[in-house]
Amino acid sequence: MTTLGTASAGPGEMDTGRLEVGEARDGSTVGLPCAVINGASDGKTLYMQAASDGDELNGVGVINRVVPQLDPAELSGTILVVGIVNYHAFQVAEHRNPIDDTKMNRAYPGDENGTSSERIAAATFDAATRADLILDLHQGSTSRMIDEVRVRCGRRHRLHDECLQLAKTFGCGYVLDQKGPEGQLARAGPDQGIPTIDPELGGCVGWDETSIEAGVEGVFNVLHDYGFLDGSVTPEPQTRAKGFDQFGSPTGGLVRFQVDLGERVSAGDLLFEVTDVFGELKARVTANNDGVFWRTRRLPQVATGEYVCSVGTNVDAY
Ligand SMILES: [Zn+2]
Repeated sequence: MTTLGTASAGPGEMDTGRLEVGEARDGSTVGLPCAVINGASDGKTLYMQAASDGDELNGVGVINRVVPQLDPAELSGTILVVGIVNYHAFQVAEHRNPIDDTKMNRAYPGDENGTSSERIAAATFDAATRADLILDLHQGSTSRMIDEVRVRCGRRHRLHDECLQLAKTFGCGYVLDQKGPEGQLARAGPDQGIPTIDPELGGCVGWDETSIEAGVEGVFNVLHDYGFLDGSVTPEPQTRAKGFDQFGSPTGGLVRFQVDLGERVSAGDLLFEVTDVFGELKARVTANNDGVFWRTRRLPQVATGEYVCSVGTNVDAY
């Protein structure tokens, strides 16, 4: 039997349940929805989770579509799933856990006696570190972003090559290969010797079917390539950025982008204009470096200094 929370499945079975992480303010039990898919044949263990940031729902959409397609009779190995990590934030459709105003993906590996977020991180990290591979499904929050996969361990980490290979197999087309901030699962996992990636499935409010489909394909690519399912995939070359230029607005007003997401830009190319309410041009902002137009704000209105967009830089293919 393989157990995660109250979900328990023997070989060739699957089960869903709850992974308890304390109580809510009314004293009711908080249990993260979890699943165990136990393959009929032996193999590796994959852990995947979604909604570590409570407003990032595309990952929940991926799990919601992948799990019904899995047949434990055809599976080698085990898949452990936590479908909603940031329980309290998900309830109110916010990014951060409202109980402690913390971003979950800064709380790993967590602390079982710590804050709300640290306890949830500890419980999910316990599950994640039972696996051979970890997928932490994210998105560019509610901004607009390309589908990409993040490798966050840093290029000098002993697991860097394995994480990079996992990102290539997932195969969104773009990879951000840049050491992440302390507390990310995609850093804490490799520190425990487990290849971990952070697929960033677009950016939207609610569900974006195109990015969800990219995530579903990515999960199945991993299941085929790492021997969970029969059949093979040939990983496609990925466009990799190793840096990020972020642009704020030099003035207040309304932003008009002059390039599309995913477009290649050269240093000096016009990225966006800022106009006043009546259409008068106030500012034009150009790229500092060659790269890929990666992410933008969603709303057109900006204050001076407010975030507008990002360009992935130091780009190559692998
Ligand atoms: Zn996120």
